[in-house]
Amino acid sequence: MKNQLFAALLATACLPAAATPTLLMPDRVWDGEAMHSGWQVLVANGRIVAAGPNVDAPADAQRITLAGQTLLPGFIEGHSHLLLHPYDKTPWDDQVLKESEAYRVARAVGHARATLMAGFTTVRDLGTEGAGTADVGLKRAINEGWVLGPRMIIATKAIVAPGSYAPKNDAWAVPQGAEEADGPSLVSAVRRQIGAGADVVKLYGDYRWRPGEGSRPTFSQAELTAAAAAAHDAGRQVAVHANTAEAMRRASNAGVDVIEHGGEGDAATFALMARNKTALCPTLAAGDAIARYRGWNGQEPAPADIQQDRAAFRLAMKAGVPICMGGDVGVYAHGENAREMLLMGQAGMSNAGVLTAATAGNARHFGLADRGRVIAGLLADLVAVSGDPLANLKAVTAVRFVMKGGEVVRRD
Ligand SMILES: [Zn+2]
Repeated sequence: MKNQLFAALLATACLPAAATPTLLMPDRVWDGEAMHSGWQVLVANGRIVAAGPNVDAPADAQRITLAGQTLLPGFIEGHSHLLLHPYDKTPWDDQVLKESEAYRVARAVGHARATLMAGFTTVRDLGTEGAGTADVGLKRAINEGWVLGPRMIIATKAIVAPGSYAPKNDAWAVPQGAEEADGPSLVSAVRRQIGAGADVVKLYGDYRWRPGEGSRPTFSQAELTAAAAAAHDAGRQVAVHANTAEAMRRASNAGVDVIEHGGEGDAATFALMARNKTALCPTLAAGDAIARYRGWNGQEPAPADIQQDRAAFRLAMKAGVPICMGGDVGVYAHGENAREMLLMGQAGMSNAGVLTAATAGNARHFGLADRGRVIAGLLADLVAVSGDPLANLKAVTAVRFVMKGGEVVRRD
């Protein structure tokens, strides 16, 4: 049994994508930006070969009928932490301080599998939170086929201003959830992390300096500008954690690509972000999960933090800020990534807006030109769900079929 499983794993991902073309025949196709009834999609050699109403398939093509289903580009998770697991079971401090890297990586193998099976074929994983550069090895193991998981855009350790982050301990120095750097050493840290494998540079632009405080800016404008320039010189995007309007303003003016969270953003800040084309990853699901861990039963009126997150999200949409779909999954269970999509819908984004954000939108915001849409030439990363998610967004949780690089990894 074990050997069979191992062989199946190798066959799934190690070997080149099946040479036999595959014709997928769902009821409808979301191409990343619009829905089309009666389309078929032809896949060969790991790529989409054709998509449209009357696709000519070779006689030997394998035909897969996806009755009652909608085919979409594989979802792109905009903000994950595969090395974390939900805080209600194990507090974040304990994960960082008391779990060995081997244990965290072993669990992350399961997280990666759950993510892929939920239809998320790419994740932007924004920091290992104390697990060093374990994401570099996990990404490699996935790419080589030893582990089933999504394609990973990784940040390695992420970077915080000295003293600003956590865990806190008043008696002695304890390991931190990210690398500490500032001043000239900040640019050095950016470069070191890129050299170690970071595809994206993650900076914490604000944080609560002591437990119980509100967030305050950490890096100065000059520091953020220098760090972003160093990352961009290396062809890497920059993601900045920021909740305060001031840290968001500094990050946007520094030219960073995406601001994470943004819960205290005001109209002027979002107008600036829209002008600078700085995207927002609202992570509504993280706040939702934490409120539930604290006892919220999900009934309205929601706690003040949740209402503030929703209001900021609506202000950002109104201002025309590019919106990512990313929930900070890891705070809640991997595989439940679609929670963010549902919360974006509940907070007022159209179903089409949510589906675009999770596919073509995230691909565009993250500079991933090879995925996110169902058009010829792109990677054959695809997901099929029961029903029509444009009519009923909840359908995104009814995953029946997942293909990654032309290989079927799930078919119910
Ligand atoms: Zn995060």
